[in-house]
Amino acid sequence: MTLPRLFFLTYILSLCFASQLQGQAVETADVIITGGKVLVCNQQMQVAEAIAITGNRIVAVSSNAVIGRLAGRKTQRIDATGKVLTPGLIDSHLHLLGLGETLQLLDLSLASSWEEIVEKVAAEAKTKPKGTWIEGHGFHQDKWQTKPQETVEGYPVHDLLSQAVPDHPVLLTHASGHAIMVNQQAMKLASVTDQTPNPDGGEILKKTSGEPTGLFRENADELIYAVYRRATARLSEGERLNLLRERVKLASEECLKHGVTMVHDAGTSVRDILVLKKLAEQQELPIRASVMIRDARRTTTDWLQNHAPWSSEDLFLQVRSVKLSIDGALGSHGAWLLEPYYDLNNSSGLNTLSMDELNEVARVCYEKNWQLCVHAIGDKANREVLDVFERTFQGNRSDLRWRIEHAQHLHPMDIPRFAKLGVIPAMQANHCTSDATFVPQRLGDRRSAEGAYVWRSLIDAGSIIANGTDAPVERVDPRASLYAAVTRQLANGNQFYPEQCMTRAESLLSYTLWSAKACFSEENVGSLEPGKLADFVIWDTNLLDCDPKQILSARVLTTYVDGKPVFEK
Ligand SMILES: [Zn+2]
Repeated sequence: MTLPRLFFLTYILSLCFASQLQGQAVETADVIITGGKVLVCNQQMQVAEAIAITGNRIVAVSSNAVIGRLAGRKTQRIDATGKVLTPGLIDSHLHLLGLGETLQLLDLSLASSWEEIVEKVAAEAKTKPKGTWIEGHGFHQDKWQTKPQETVEGYPVHDLLSQAVPDHPVLLTHASGHAIMVNQQAMKLASVTDQTPNPDGGEILKKTSGEPTGLFRENADELIYAVYRRATARLSEGERLNLLRERVKLASEECLKHGVTMVHDAGTSVRDILVLKKLAEQQELPIRASVMIRDARRTTTDWLQNHAPWSSEDLFLQVRSVKLSIDGALGSHGAWLLEPYYDLNNSSGLNTLSMDELNEVARVCYEKNWQLCVHAIGDKANREVLDVFERTFQGNRSDLRWRIEHAQHLHPMDIPRFAKLGVIPAMQANHCTSDATFVPQRLGDRRSAEGAYVWRSLIDAGSIIANGTDAPVERVDPRASLYAAVTRQLANGNQFYPEQCMTRAESLLSYTLWSAKACFSEENVGSLEPGKLADFVIWDTNLLDCDPKQILSARVLTTYVDGKPVFEK
């Protein structure tokens, strides 16, 4: 599985196969696409000229001449001159429902005034029944071009918002994540008055008259969130189905327009997975999803004991993995380290999961053939997980394809253990460049150079990397991760330990074939080869040999899933 550092690209004329598809003779294809460049994304990174599709499967990939012979009277011919085809991209770590939920909220980050925000919220309220919560996120008063008439400590007061939206509770999150702004109706539901005292660790910002302004700092937001949660928990089963259906739809649209046709969902409750199953049965999943179970210990182990890994017949949904989390994040000093933080020397971070639980879930997964995926960021966290995996596998390499999610910071001695044990590091390349500014502060130079986002070292040791974005933590747009993987370049132009860059070919594999392997789907997706599902993307740019900067401006022209165009520019 080791890849040579330099790839030679072969122009293939040989991938055409005997015209057989599931036992049926195929004389002509339903669709042929010719004249472009087809990046096959198999392990040899072959390149072809044309592709033929029948039903939802690829039937041939070859030269224009060979594919041309598969065109009949009813064949749809698509000219892709100057364009480039890749397999549908696979984001191997994101949160589908979380992404959908974020997309349901009003995006207030670009508003230029408080008045504009009030107008937006009022327009949204008009489309929702009275009493429905209206939510927005990302407002920041310092970014506004005009200041509101009345302010307290720079923040607006609720009056204008409450007049414009009297019958819906409104909840707007500040860009910092450390404050919320609400209207009178929300405060009424939460029984907040000028008599309400500040809770511990929080502040209800008030006017000089003592009246609340509508702004709640830090822990004070819990006064509002408590009522908000009660309201949303009351949803009937039908309302819940509709809510999740809407989130799946929004998240899927966002993925498809960026060329992402399959996602690995990094943790959903059993209750929500059952809703996804219902949507899959009704053929309402627009993209393919491989979902990891993330739930309470008892619920999780019960499920693993009593169910087998499962996949829908049309291959749009599969449930065959479990997600656990053993530590926190580096930014907040939560990553669990072997040595103390460079900038906080009385702390080595946090272990957030009992080893007893990790061992128990690992044992059940091993016995019942489930894939185990554990979030581990610090080098201590990664070592502990590798130790548990190794003990469970009795020291052997396993074909269960267990994963470590993030695998951000590794001790050099642990790097070869991934390939040795058959453990897949699922790393989100965009995290590297967005965290790069503070990594050396947290770890110091030596540890950063040796172990931070070391995908080059992992690949050289024989691993594959499954790439992704962790959306909605980062944007789902894969171009940022593809670019970060090959340049490790920050917005300010600095490069973060560039010796750890992937090659261009490896970066594409990390978003296609390798991600497909990371969810046992390489028989059906991940490369453009005869017999595989026709999930692919037509680009205006060759992601394999354009100038690296152009990766960021490459445009998706059309996205196909299951042989059908589902997004067109
Ligand atoms: Zn995540």
